[in-house]
Amino acid sequence: MLDFSARGWGRVILITVCGTLLCIAVPVAVDLLFMDFAPADLAKSLRNDVLLPLLLATPLLSAFSYKMRQLAIAQAELQVVASTDSLTAVLNRGAFTMLVDAYLNAVRDQEVNRSGALLIVDADHFKSINDRFGHESGDEALKIIAGSIRGLVRNADLVGRIGGEEFGVFLPGSSPSDAAAVAERIRVTVSSAAFSADGKSSPLSVSVGGAVFARSVDYAELYRVADRQLYQAKQSGRNRVSLTHMPGSAAALH
Ligand code: GH3
Ligand code: MG
Ligand code: MG
Repeated sequence: MLDFSARGWGRVILITVCGTLLCIAVPVAVDLLFMDFAPADLAKSLRNDVLLPLLLATPLLSAFSYKMRQLAIAQAELQVVASTDSLTAVLNRGAFTMLVDAYLNAVRDQEVNRSGALLIVDADHFKSINDRFGHESGDEALKIIAGSIRGLVRNADLVGRIGGEEFGVFLPGSSPSDAAAVAERIRVTVSSAAFSADGKSSPLSVSVGGAVFARSVDYAELYRVADRQLYQAKQSGRNRVSLTHMPGSAAALH
């Protein structure tokens, strides 16, 4: 099946074929409708009407539409680069915030879809990992944490690096129990991930704060509540999960 999007070959072929046919049809129509040629002259003119567009318009239109396709591909690649965190390959803070915001705005008036959760995953005592093993090893640890999170979420979920050693995980439409299960799986997976530096393996852990919602909310409000839960998780010893419902949402978490 041909791809007719701006990045597909279908559009290049369509523009070239339709453009050439138009360049032929216009002079042919003019000759037939308005010119008073003798039959021999008409045949010669019609032949030119077909040949000239084939020789000139076809290569020009195909070159033009091919360039447009290349530009569309470059623009799509730029968009990916501009929205990706270069170290961990998850969304960067700006893209994550924008996409979560866009989702929350889109479901603002849809009672059925207006649920989900925001998790904030923060590496524990990360400064000491940098201090003990150096910044480069710290970077490796961040990649391991990001990879663990990405491996646990669905395609529809959003993962972003929203701070130095802090990740946001947005779970659109997830139930409170699903959100709690994902948060716990992230915690367990990171704590059992193999991280070694200077030939020694070193434990990693994260604390997770989360806010579950079942009403219209905005990102700032959701983040504030999830961040308070993250603080709770840190206060109660780290390597923990602490989730809550947004005030005004349904009853307590199970
Ligand atoms: P806590 O358990 O309370 O979260 O302690 P913490 O040490 O993780 O938190 P703190 O905010 O004191 O330190 C965060 C550290 O994360 C300090 C900073 O150097 C490190 N960090 C932030 N961004 C990066 C990065 O891109 N690469 C590396 N290697 N380290 C980073
Ligand atoms: Mg930290
Ligand atoms: Mg932090």
